[in-house]
Amino acid sequence: MASVHERLYRFCPTCKTKLKRKLIDRRRLLFCSNCSFTFWNNPKPVTIVILHDNGKILLLQRANKPLKNFWCLPGGYIDYEETPEEAIRRETKEEVGFDVGIESLVGVYRIDNDPRGVNIDIIYEAELKGKILLSEEHHNYNLFAIEELPAKIAYKHREAINDWLKNKEQGKQKFIP
Ligand SMILES: [Zn+2]
Repeated sequence: MASVHERLYRFCPTCKTKLKRKLIDRRRLLFCSNCSFTFWNNPKPVTIVILHDNGKILLLQRANKPLKNFWCLPGGYIDYEETPEEAIRRETKEEVGFDVGIESLVGVYRIDNDPRGVNIDIIYEAELKGKILLSEEHHNYNLFAIEELPAKIAYKHREAINDWLKNKEQGKQKFIP
């Protein structure tokens, strides 16, 4: 069954034949009878970073739809040729203006509340070291103390922040060599 957020191809991206449903691996997937292309519609991987400074966390406020004015952690989609760590370094540079040194992995989250589709967020942490220069994707930023975090945090970034805190308290950070 297609979820509400699922965006489907109607035509084969390879040969332009109209796609039809076919039972594959017990799922009724869109399939091209001409060239055998199968539209798996897998979730998209995204890299995100919790940038912290003396226990405070950097959040950016979204300037555009969807989720306009919601607060979120910096990050974005992985480009085709990138590793996740290369992606988060590029995204941090683009969105907050400095080079980041990734320290550890906080967790991996399935994000099903983004109207653009289902994402898998790979969430890292790093120390905030640099002067913040926002891109036009965000119109505001703030370093929040944990007890002052805003209510409107997009995606599952609040959950990741809670996990980050818990990991830190228990000394359970998964360090990246
Ligand atoms: Zn085809």
